[in-house]
Amino acid sequence: MSMNVVTLLYLVASVCFIQALKGLSHPTTSIRGNLFGMTGMLIAVLTTAALIVQLAGGAVLGLGWVLLGLLVGGTAGTLMAQRVEMTRMPELVAFMHSMIGLAAVFIAVAAVAEPWAFGITAAPVAAVVGARTPGGAVLLEGMVMPAIPYGNRLELFLGAAIGAITFSGSVIAFGKLSGKYKFRLFQGAPVQFAGQHWLNLALGLLTVGLGLMFVATESWTAFFAMLALAFAMGVLIIIPIGGADMPVVVSMLNSYSGWAAAGIGFSLNNSMLIIAGSLVGSSGGILSYIMCKAMNRSFFNVLLGGFGGAVASGEGGAKEQRPVKSGSADDAAFVLSNAETVVIVPGYGLAVARAQHAVKELAQKLTDKGITVKYAIHPVAGRMPGHMNVLLAEAEVPYDQVFEMDEINSEFGQTDVAIILGANDVVNPAAQTKGSPIYGMPILEAYKAKTVIVNKRSMASGYAGLDNELFYMDKTMMVFGDAKKVVEDMVKAIE
Ligand code: NDP
Repeated sequence: MSMNVVTLLYLVASVCFIQALKGLSHPTTSIRGNLFGMTGMLIAVLTTAALIVQLAGGAVLGLGWVLLGLLVGGTAGTLMAQRVEMTRMPELVAFMHSMIGLAAVFIAVAAVAEPWAFGITAAPVAAVVGARTPGGAVLLEGMVMPAIPYGNRLELFLGAAIGAITFSGSVIAFGKLSGKYKFRLFQGAPVQFAGQHWLNLALGLLTVGLGLMFVATESWTAFFAMLALAFAMGVLIIIPIGGADMPVVVSMLNSYSGWAAAGIGFSLNNSMLIIAGSLVGSSGGILSYIMCKAMNRSFFNVLLGGFGGAVASGEGGAKEQRPVKSGSADDAAFVLSNAETVVIVPGYGLAVARAQHAVKELAQKLTDKGITVKYAIHPVAGRMPGHMNVLLAEAEVPYDQVFEMDEINSEFGQTDVAIILGANDVVNPAAQTKGSPIYGMPILEAYKAKTVIVNKRSMASGYAGLDNELFYMDKTMMVFGDAKKVVEDMVKAIE
């Protein structure tokens, strides 16, 4: 296979990736987008495997390792994707990012150790021990090891450093998202201490300094010291970030993993890795920016870490002993049946209860009665970007009933009933009160509807750990219980 054919196939794969991103930007085209992505990845993997055989001069040894890697990685990925629950997806994503980061580190270490194996330098040649070569070449046991070009050293330093930060940062994000571990750094609450930012700055400068020393001298010591600091920085950047800001962390790490891959792609002179890495890096960066806007956070604070200390985190936190109006599923069904317009606000609890099919049935019954039903989606509802869209798509909710926050917020004032199912923070009016930890976070303005129905199991707080004034309003009816059971009861109660 000539290099022209390889380049052409990589180009086709790249176009597929771009089409994938385009498709994934809307629910109606997302399946097509996924298919493009899978096709692009298949072309890229097969082309690379063929290239390896060619570079190995037809030897199958290298290919054997590659196929083994594909088999083990592919099987593990398939099993994990099949078994993961929707509510556990963010952890899976964090885990995948950590693997990309670690892969970048391993490739960089291998490339620094044996640059000729990656085509970065010529193979070492025999020489007289003690002979010196121009250009910083190192003599080792009678072999001249050609020096890695400065540009490649820089790329390897950047790829390895970003990969290491991505790996350890993703491990911490994984622990924080899972909430299952007792280890303090894996707790949702931020870990903060005096001088944290100065320490991060000092470590950052030291990492860059050691990296540049490696670039100048090709010193292994500098390279490994730089790597150790980068691993430590990944941990330190993520630990001060608490509960409600985790979605931004996940997309930020997504971006970092892409840039790590792109950096390594430059070293390996692999255009596919550069293009795919840049696409992941920039789309992750854009998503982080959108998420920051949705949560009213500063993008640069996110990039530098430690931006989310203000929000108390952890589910089931603060509770307030104030009276609320509560009703049964039958009462709620009665109110809904007498409305002309209904807006459904899904949240994390809907995903936990797996109530999406019941909700679709409820919407269908209301629509059959001539009631206009719309769904309102907050960008960070649930536990990962697009969580609610995926959930509703799974239940085959028609896309034209699903509206983003900016599209629907102006309609709440004219809505008869807003029914909130397992959502809390994303409808919390505290976000519009100065001094609140979530002040400035845009919310779905469900409190403006004429009547509000809220379904959740208790008065426990949401992810941000804050009480919600919406529950205590005169026009609000709380319907306590598991979302699936409650919605199914509503469906039964509607004639
Ligand atoms: P919240 O976590 O604010 O609220 C969910 C509510 O669902 C809880 O108050 C809980 O109350 C209720 N609930 C839980 N289980 C059930 C059930 N089986 N049936 C009925 N209700 C249930 O979720 P939101 O979607 O409103 O907001 C998302 C939050 O998560 C934001 O703070 C966001 O920043 C954060 N986040 C978002 C991510 C993303 O990418 N989208 C990622 C990580 C965090 P009760 O216990 O009383 O039932």
